[in-house]
Amino acid sequence: MYFLTVSDEVLPVIYSLNIKHRFSDVECVLGCGDLPYYYLEYIVTMLSVPCFYIHGNHDAAEYTAHGEMLQYPRGCDSLEGRSVNHQGVLLAGLGGSIRYNDRSGAQYTERQMLMRAWRLVPRLIVNRWMYGRYLDIFLTHAPPLDIHNGPDRPHRGFKVFLDFMDRFKPRYLIHGHIHRSYRFSDTVETQYNQTTVINTAGYRRLWVEPRQQHGVVSPSSNKTK
Ligand SMILES: [Zn+2]
Repeated sequence: MYFLTVSDEVLPVIYSLNIKHRFSDVECVLGCGDLPYYYLEYIVTMLSVPCFYIHGNHDAAEYTAHGEMLQYPRGCDSLEGRSVNHQGVLLAGLGGSIRYNDRSGAQYTERQMLMRAWRLVPRLIVNRWMYGRYLDIFLTHAPPLDIHNGPDRPHRGFKVFLDFMDRFKPRYLIHGHIHRSYRFSDTVETQYNQTTVINTAGYRRLWVEPRQQHGVVSPSSNKTK
């Protein structure tokens, strides 16, 4: 199944009428935060596919052209602190960045993020019991500690995400927050044990093979790449 993963930057390649043609093979959208809600709404409206998202530290309410306040992107499903089986691909998400100032928004201390991860555990255990694995894609905004992260406090990664990968072995950890323009590093994909860590700042088209559930192959796994 092809996923379109997006975060941090509004790009003309996506925010255009060509999106339908360019991403006609995409079956699901994953938003990793720090994007205006109208952008996610535009993508799901144009592609007519499901979208799961988590919050970035800069996410905030915004107003439509009609003066309506948007607190979340309409037509999209929040994956914050949840796990979902989407057509044979197990998703879970924890948004936000490391806390670096006193402003409100999705900022967490290492300990607060640890507690959020712990609250996910019962659902991951249910996944393991039902599907034989904890999860396939772990969606975050901030990166793991020392993988793609920056040298300054706001762009530091979470250590708990390393422990999470050690314990629950997702196939992918997809994050944002580290804009390519920061030039911390040109590396956007790193293998960490069994997990491929991807910085999706901007966008990425990603193929993920759906897996068996209860011994039955998910229908979408028969599709060619
Ligand atoms: Zn961010």
